[in-house]
Amino acid sequence: MKKEELEKIHSKKKILNYFLRRDITSTEEILSIFQKMPGAIRGESSKGYPYVFVPGKAKNKVLLTAHCDTVWDGKVNCKQDVKYKKGVFSSGNKSVGIGADDRAGIAMLYLLKNSGNSLLITTGEERKMSCSRYLSEREYELINDHNFIVQLDKCGNKEFKCYSVGSEEFIEYIKQRTGFKYINPYSYTDIVSLCKTICGVNLSVGYYNEHSADEYLIYDEWKETFKAAKKLIKNSRKFELDKKNIDELYEDEDKFGYNDFDLLDLIEQMNEEIKRENKDGYYDIPEIDL
Ligand SMILES: [Zn+2]
Repeated sequence: MKKEELEKIHSKKKILNYFLRRDITSTEEILSIFQKMPGAIRGESSKGYPYVFVPGKAKNKVLLTAHCDTVWDGKVNCKQDVKYKKGVFSSGNKSVGIGADDRAGIAMLYLLKNSGNSLLITTGEERKMSCSRYLSEREYELINDHNFIVQLDKCGNKEFKCYSVGSEEFIEYIKQRTGFKYINPYSYTDIVSLCKTICGVNLSVGYYNEHSADEYLIYDEWKETFKAAKKLIKNSRKFELDKKNIDELYEDEDKFGYNDFDLLDLIEQMNEEIKRENKDGYYDIPEIDL
């Protein structure tokens, strides 16, 4: 299907289907679609991972982001076989998934291209977040000149994570606007690097068993997130990131639903991961005190 034909598709399900059927071993086809949008800037991280930034025209704009690489990026003889049955997209190939992580998010970005908000399509998310770490150093003003960042790249249904880039106020705002459930801050993703002065959230987009041949996506859940994302970005306001608040926030286990044991366990795991990654020079995140 050519680009012209993509523009003729109006059904959300067909747009999603279109993006799930792009080559999962390469990011080029997806990048080229966004690169042709008005004002789009294409750049590359120091390790050679490309990204496309499409500036939003709205005064109060949000940055919407998704990664177009998949865990099958660069693999040879690897082609997905996307099946759709009873509201579920799944794989007909026993060794390859459908790349819904994160082509599901990419399809939403495409659908929100005329919303007045900025779009950022990264690559290398599955490779230690190469692009977002680069952008957070070199283009941090461009990226942080938004009300907040919405990443559309989490497994599951009606959930969100803010990792270390939320605030109590921001988390409340997301809960109210989306009705989604806040879950623990463990692990990292693009927004953790990108958010320097503003808050960020990662919304679930309805995929499950990502990174495996058993990967599937529930269409109704994806559609609900699309609606929730639209509500979230409409007439938005700015949420500054306050590092001091964050420490207090993650200590308040009663308010956010995890107990002491879980929290200590979680911090220990994070510290271990940070130590490992620091050896390879990847993350630039300070250790968390127990
Ligand atoms: Zn992902």
